[in-house]
Amino acid sequence: MRVRVGINGFGTIGKRVADAVRKQPDLELVGVTKTRPSYEAEAAVARGYRLFIAGSGNRRAFEDAGLPVAGTLADLLKEVDVIVDAAPDKVGQENVGIYRPAGVRSIFQGGEKVGVAEASFNALANYAVGRGKHSLRVVSCNTTGLARAAAVVDRAWGVESWEATIVRRAADPAESNRGPINGILPSLHLPSHHGPDVQSVLSDLPISTTAVVVPTTLMHVHVNHVRLRHPPADVGEVVRRFRATPRFRLFRPWEGIDGTPQVMEFARDRGLPYNDVMENVLWEEGISLQGSDLRFFQAIHQESIVVPENIDAIRSMFDLAPSAEASIAMTDRALGLAPP
Ligand code: NAD
Repeated sequence: MRVRVGINGFGTIGKRVADAVRKQPDLELVGVTKTRPSYEAEAAVARGYRLFIAGSGNRRAFEDAGLPVAGTLADLLKEVDVIVDAAPDKVGQENVGIYRPAGVRSIFQGGEKVGVAEASFNALANYAVGRGKHSLRVVSCNTTGLARAAAVVDRAWGVESWEATIVRRAADPAESNRGPINGILPSLHLPSHHGPDVQSVLSDLPISTTAVVVPTTLMHVHVNHVRLRHPPADVGEVVRRFRATPRFRLFRPWEGIDGTPQVMEFARDRGLPYNDVMENVLWEEGISLQGSDLRFFQAIHQESIVVPENIDAIRSMFDLAPSAEASIAMTDRALGLAPP
């Protein structure tokens, strides 16, 4: 029996999660919602996805656009075991009042507050938390990147303290209503909210974060300074540990990846759908160990890094895999991510 999944909100995250669900052997994509007709709604239909109407959308508008509609969100909820909410920030919180009475389990995204679900989730950091839960929140793109790295580093050498500065992309590539297009905006709320958000999946991690927004759409970059409790003998051990972990992609110096433009060019060459990079991207040259001070950069593709985590969250909730490692391997194989 496959777990039946619906996607509420077919935007940047929702369309990727829908495609990812369809590739999993133990999940079935029942349908996706749109609030109004658009090229994305048309793409959903072209892919064979059943289209349901969410929010204030009306059937007539879809019919006028020639897009067949299978029903409303309420109809979709009757056919699924779990709904993945990928609606815009804060709309997920409003949707709790729809999912709960329908008796459907739910997965929310990082744009919602921690309290939207019973627990926050990251596959490498706290996979087992999902078991038996009726709602989970997959943490945001930046938090996912930090939580993955922290899960690796803390388990291997222990973290005395972790300071991260997040250089944030201003907007997603398709967003023309956000900025800045010139300038650097420090997030003046100090420390930034990302540290506490990482602690929603790794409660004991002594992490503190700051953030600046810069005019780029490609990726975020994190500048990490970690003080280790039990440092390894040399930096090579750190490189090997990251390399041996799924969802980490390390570039070697000769590969010519100077920054995020080349990472995205690599992604275009690799040819995964949407040119996605679902792994944490690290530069071997950009990892340094001096005594117990570990420093490293990592780049995070905001549009796709949470996609495999949504799949693992469903598997964790329905107890479909014996361990985090097994779920991650199954997800990554289906998505075409190379094993470590
Ligand atoms: P998006 O705006 O690209 O997509 C949201 C979709 O939901 C749109 O198709 C919109 O039409 C639809 N929608 C609007 N109102 C709705 C309603 N009432 N019910 C159902 N659908 C509705 O947004 P996104 O970037 O995909 O973000 C979705 C969630 O994922 C947010 O919580 C966000 O914080 C989180 N997230 C986004 C990113 C990112 O970089 N884009 C990364 C990680 C997490």
